[in-house]
Amino acid sequence: MNDVKRTIITLTGIVQGVGFRPFVYRTACRLGLFGWVENQGSKVIIDVEGPEENIRSFICALKNESPKNAEIAEFDMRAQPFLGYTDFSIRASTVGVNTANFLSGDIAVCESCMKEFNAPGNKRYEYPFICCTHCGPRYSIIKRLPYDRNNTTMVEFEMCPQCEVEYRSSGDRRFHAQTNCCPDCGPILKLLDARGNTVDSSDPAKMARELIRRGKILGVKGIGGYHLCCNAEDPVAVQRLRKLKHRPQKPLAIMARDIEAVYKICEVSGLEKAILIGSRKPILLLRKKVTEYLSEDIAPKQKRLGVMLPYAPLQSLLFSDDLNFLVMTSGNISGSPICYQDGAAIQTLGSIAEYFLIHNRKINVPVDDAVVKIFDGYEVLVRCGRGYAPLTIPLESGKVIMALGAEQKSSVCFVRGGFAAISQYIGDLNEYQNYQVFEHQIEHFKELFHFCPELLAHDLNSDSLSTRFAKEQAGQKFAVQHHHAHMAGCMAESKLTGDAIGVIYDGTGLGTDYAVWGGEFLTGSSSGFRRSGHLEYVTLQGGDIVVKEPWRCAACYLFALDIDPCKFLPLIDSYSLHGVQAALHNGIKCFESSSMGRLFDCVAALCGFQTKITYDAQAAIELENLSEADVPKCYCYQIVDTENGLILGYKDMIRDILRDLQNHVPISFISSGFHNTVLEATAECVCIIRKKTGLNDVVLSGGVFENTYLLERLVLKLRDLNFTVYYNRLTPTNDGGLSFGQAAVAGANLKEK
Ligand code: ZN
Ligand code: FE
Repeated sequence: MNDVKRTIITLTGIVQGVGFRPFVYRTACRLGLFGWVENQGSKVIIDVEGPEENIRSFICALKNESPKNAEIAEFDMRAQPFLGYTDFSIRASTVGVNTANFLSGDIAVCESCMKEFNAPGNKRYEYPFICCTHCGPRYSIIKRLPYDRNNTTMVEFEMCPQCEVEYRSSGDRRFHAQTNCCPDCGPILKLLDARGNTVDSSDPAKMARELIRRGKILGVKGIGGYHLCCNAEDPVAVQRLRKLKHRPQKPLAIMARDIEAVYKICEVSGLEKAILIGSRKPILLLRKKVTEYLSEDIAPKQKRLGVMLPYAPLQSLLFSDDLNFLVMTSGNISGSPICYQDGAAIQTLGSIAEYFLIHNRKINVPVDDAVVKIFDGYEVLVRCGRGYAPLTIPLESGKVIMALGAEQKSSVCFVRGGFAAISQYIGDLNEYQNYQVFEHQIEHFKELFHFCPELLAHDLNSDSLSTRFAKEQAGQKFAVQHHHAHMAGCMAESKLTGDAIGVIYDGTGLGTDYAVWGGEFLTGSSSGFRRSGHLEYVTLQGGDIVVKEPWRCAACYLFALDIDPCKFLPLIDSYSLHGVQAALHNGIKCFESSSMGRLFDCVAALCGFQTKITYDAQAAIELENLSEADVPKCYCYQIVDTENGLILGYKDMIRDILRDLQNHVPISFISSGFHNTVLEATAECVCIIRKKTGLNDVVLSGGVFENTYLLERLVLKLRDLNFTVYYNRLTPTNDGGLSFGQAAVAGANLKEK
């Protein structure tokens, strides 16, 4: 008996809500080990006794065979005096103090569950809330940790004796499945009309499907909130949805019946397929095929389409042989947060949806669908949401930090104990309801993870609502320059700690000289930066409206070149143009800008985009979609080396573009030429900076790099020049990733002190 040992193992990471305790239980039993496993706060603690060799196999199994959705971040073992347990048990969770920040995101319904779902005769045949230890909602229904049923919104449903048996049987797929339920004891569906009155139906899902087939718009309650849903193959319904939602042009996401349906409308690579059918099922941006199935109106002027597969069993019920593509767009009024509470959803969406398919499982936190794309062979997160939130990334900080993110595309991030947790995308804080979600999200994080921020990281801009929020809180504050945060976030997710060259191309962010930056060459690391170059300043006039009306950018650029814009902006009346000119002359609402986003707006306007944008960055996105792959065209640019760093001049390029416009060169050539010029000029600036600094790592970040044409070619070009290139993968390159970057800067500065 002298080879019998006892060990206490402490695990942190995503180890709750992913079937970890049942897995531990089974493994221990298989190896004939005794002891117990329990959730403590956010950790899993295992006390195990038995032959030394078996304990070694047990540890090996924990590390190598853990459940698919689990992620062990830390593994701690301590030898203990032998006690002589006589069995292995799963103990009731103890509250404990949370010292880590891990939580499983919502998990899409798994294959085994779908098999039962599709098997007539099964107890859960077509049951919309079927789930198991390995799948189902998590983050969106968890109120506090540890992850136990009574800490989720499932607390309202008491398991029936049959479900209870499954829950207690170690051999069952639903052994310790906290969300376990069935038609006898779990949530149920209900169909409502637009005013919230119940529509009598023995089969609400079937009736909902029939209504969709008949061209109706439905509000459908999903995992993280409501969707607005209609038949994507019905152009009249789609057009009506657009009109009612006040969303004239922004691309709509499609939910396809299955992977075969996706093949009909998009190009799908092996990696893309894996993401579509995987356990998170985000909206994936795919290259559109020309098909008869969907009208251009789903994603006008776009080469890509956002597609996802059903991730809640309920959604599978909405499809049929003649219903293969549904529009599944966030259930909100344009610009507001996604609706997730039944009463508010019906009140808000009742003017758009004619019916609602709802259920009585509450959603605790609103989480929009995540958006991802494949780039350079990697999955790249475009918007953090369901399945991905909360995002956990290793980050050293020294203190408990809360970073409050940007004002538009808001997100919050908190850091403790070597890890950052980043919230889902929240939206534009200028919209009051989004601001409320932002405040609620911060409180929710504090409650979930039991922490009190010691330091608040915020944007340099004191007018920003997230900065104002920070200033109202107790504790130390730390202001971070917007583009430095972009750079630091990208570096931190790649664990890049030395100095690098940052190319930060972005829309708007306040610079240290109080100008609006956004075409920046920074050198440094998370702890500090030097501005080694930037896009030449232009004086823009009009404040926030400039972003909404790209022609104003074009007018200002042309005035800066002493060129009358009238002839190049034919859709804008001369009265408005001269208004801008007069205001520029008198310095009314003028600001200096080095923003690359605004330069894109300028060129987009010259290429014909002369109306107001109807969604964020629309002009620049449409300009990208005009570009063509094999146009070798490139315009002139100049780079001037000054004592304040490099100045990348735009004047020659704009003159060239105007000449092309007068010569009726096709717009697609002009767009490609412009993109090519930006990437050539960028590469040249980076080379000059390398010569001066010896730095060889280049970090590409900022909202403009959502532009795949630009990013793809710039990455290749820089690699050709022997640079090591980094771009955002885990966190969004746009302002959605800014909170993480702010935390990285604050953390690096704390460490230095
Ligand atoms: Zn399952
Ligand atoms: Fe930004």
